Amino acid sequence: MSERPRLGLDIGGTKTHGILLDAAGRVLAERVLPTERGAEGVIRSALAVTDACLDLAGIGRGDLDSVGIGVPGQVDHLTGTVRTAVNLNISHLALGERLGLALGVPVAVDNDVKAAALAAAARLAASDLTYINVGTGVASATLADGRLVRGQGNLAGEIGHIALDPDGERCACGQRGCLEVLVGGAGIAERLAALAPRVSLPSLFDAAAAGSPDAMTEATRISAGIATAVQLVVLTQGSSRVVLGGGVVHAARGLVDEVRRILTARAASSEFLTSLNLADRVIVLPSDYPVAAIGAALVGRATADAVT
Ligand SMILES: [Zn+2]
Repeated sequence: MSERPRLGLDIGGTKTHGILLDAAGRVLAERVLPTERGAEGVIRSALAVTDACLDLAGIGRGDLDSVGIGVPGQVDHLTGTVRTAVNLNISHLALGERLGLALGVPVAVDNDVKAAALAAAARLAASDLTYINVGTGVASATLADGRLVRGQGNLAGEIGHIALDPDGERCACGQRGCLEVLVGGAGIAERLAALAPRVSLPSLFDAAAAGSPDAMTEATRISAGIATAVQLVVLTQGSSRVVLGGGVVHAARGLVDEVRRILTARAASSEFLTSLNLADRVIVLPSDYPVAAIGAALVGRATADAVT
């Protein structure tokens, strides 16, 4: 393995987070800058964060081993091409090729949730887990035997568009009552804004515990939806650990405890669920652990996605 440092870039809709790791995985430099939208903007942002990290470490582009990128949207990890990244305003971008030419080093690209799953697996020394990202969007990524489960066209993990409530609110995908509408940040923000008095997501579970009926309804909707997502990935993927991450999970104080409580309550009437120990499988990484950027640094690092 090369002794040169490797750069990870987590390109999100609002910011691009770069992290420079040495060959042993230690952080040498870290920078976060705003993301410019559009194909050219994303390229400019990626280069700016790369150079900022290199400056901090006192090295140049030619000193890099390679670059890994995590990006939302449909990513072809074999070609490094990004399609339909709505939050970045990209319909098609040969991101890996463009950055590779600009930087003069190999660049690997993958979906950001799949990248985060790689980081979670490395952090937990696990070869078998599912990472569920509950942010603006909702998606999961599974590692089985140390490999990412991809499916045709990298479709595996688009659990946000499983319709849980046929009478629910309309989703951007055209269906009603999708998991993403129930527990995604955009749907939550819309419903909380309509409450009187207004309740913020960080204080939602406190307000529910204090007896506010509206807050209780919303808190239950979110935690029951996430509990169902946990059940779903355990029953379909058999994951021994389910890592919950993303902005909603880290913003809502008390949410994860409530998810575990609901899983335990559901098991009370089911010998089958009891045997699965669902609540014990739920893990949350520290909110200050840069899971997406570390994960980006792991993208394409090992052959065939193996990280353990
Ligand atoms: Zn949907």
